[in-house]
Amino acid sequence: MNALERELSERFGARVGRGQSLADLTSFRIGGPADLFVTVESAEELAAALAGARRAATPAMCLGAGTNLLVSDRGVRGLVVKLGASFDRCRIEETRVEAGAAMAFGALVEAVVERGLAGLEFGEGIPGSVGGGLVMNAGAFGGEMARVVVAIQGVTGAGEIRTLAKDEVGFAYRRTNLPAGFVITRVDFELESGDREALQARVADLRARRAARQPRGLPNAGSIFKNPPGNFAGRLLEGAGLKGARMGGAAFSGQHANFIVNLGGARAAEVRALIEMARNRVRESSGVWLEPEVRFVGEW
Ligand SMILES: Cc1cc2nc3c(=O)[nH]c(=O)nc-3n(C[C@H](O)[C@H](O)[C@H](O)COP(=O)(O)OP(=O)(O)OC[C@H]3O[C@@H](n4cnc5c(N)ncnc54)[C@H](O)[C@@H]3O)c2cc1C
Repeated sequence: MNALERELSERFGARVGRGQSLADLTSFRIGGPADLFVTVESAEELAAALAGARRAATPAMCLGAGTNLLVSDRGVRGLVVKLGASFDRCRIEETRVEAGAAMAFGALVEAVVERGLAGLEFGEGIPGSVGGGLVMNAGAFGGEMARVVVAIQGVTGAGEIRTLAKDEVGFAYRRTNLPAGFVITRVDFELESGDREALQARVADLRARRAARQPRGLPNAGSIFKNPPGNFAGRLLEGAGLKGARMGGAAFSGQHANFIVNLGGARAAEVRALIEMARNRVRESSGVWLEPEVRFVGEW
């Protein structure tokens, strides 16, 4: 047991794990273990864990709902932090919404629509957490996080609890420019009053549109590539003949070319090789160099 593991075990007891499988915590169902894993239940606990890792010169990362990740087969060296149930709640006051970072984005959409608040309907069917959604500037159907966020709370890599204003987040297409190592604990939104029934109808419509075009049943991590300016990654992949292309246990979905599905027992190395093969094929066929949306995590 090293010094960090001892320190964390003294403070967090059974909430610290060694060799936790990350495949079990990702939507792809792929990936090796985390050296050290801890679940925290308050910003102070998070600060202690991150400061401890910093002192021990051990890398630390936060795992959200694991729906946008490809974790390497060797797993993650260092500490993986997960926000516990106490971050899975929201407070709504008039049009202001404060959401815990571990809350499921879909649950937040449901809660605000129920209160007749407009602005988050686009999140219907985005399966991640509120914190992961913020980091990825998640979006769909013309909406994105950046439009409705006003502030975020979190902890710096050094263990300092901080509030960041929207313009400190650095929102861009499916990414943000947060300070390195910053872990989000809460996201504040400013929404608009709307008509509850009209909002519910819009959410139902978006749900149906998503169901019609996304593969169901097999583990995946959503869109593999970002859409390049003025085009769609799915269209380029299909044009390059990649729909259904397979490597080991991983294949591009026959239903939506920008999804890779785990057919069963896929290894991260196979998914990554499929991604690189597809990038090269698309560049040959259209001259576009696709940028992955899915994040590669761990030791490759
Ligand atoms: C079926 C399916 C459909 C999808 N559809 C969409 C879509 O329409 N639009 C879209 O934008 N995305 C979509 N996604 C991708 C994914 O759901 C989003 O990117 C989501 O916002 C990721 O959230 P997460 O909690 O799963 O984050 P994770 O995958 O766990 O992490 C993503 C990144 O955020 C970091 N992170 C997570 N939580 C925190 C935190 N609290 N503090 C700091 N860093 C953190 C992680 O370290 C990692 O770098 C889809 C995925 C699937 C599987």
